[in-house]
Amino acid sequence: MKVITREITISSRRRREVINISDKVEEFIKDSGIKNGLVLIFLPHATAGLFANEDEPRIRKDYETLFERLVPVNGDYEHNKIDNNADAHLLAALFKQFYVLPIVNGELVRGTWQELFLADFDGPRTRRIVLVVIGE
Ligand code: ZN
Repeated sequence: MKVITREITISSRRRREVINISDKVEEFIKDSGIKNGLVLIFLPHATAGLFANEDEPRIRKDYETLFERLVPVNGDYEHNKIDNNADAHLLAALFKQFYVLPIVNGELVRGTWQELFLADFDGPRTRRIVLVVIGE
């Protein structure tokens, strides 16, 4: 069994932005040479999240509408007395900071409409993502 780790960076250009990272994860899996195992996708940040869903321009707008409905940017937040990103922390708390997905026959297993997204809630920033493949 092998364990291979890679850190990648993703830069957002807006405060709230969803970025499709599927290609980067799949490229890492190909490069790793692992045919069967698991990939861990870990986002070491407190104001961003990961999710798996469809990538299509209109649903991307709907994601942004959902974020604003769940946690409006301009709310009355305690954390904003010491920082100006309470909404970003709260949204990140509702999302995941990691995924573990299967690799079978050298391919990442995911649903047809499951693209992997990094959702930055406090951009523009450069975000780190740690990828770990475990398998053989
Ligand atoms: Zn903060």
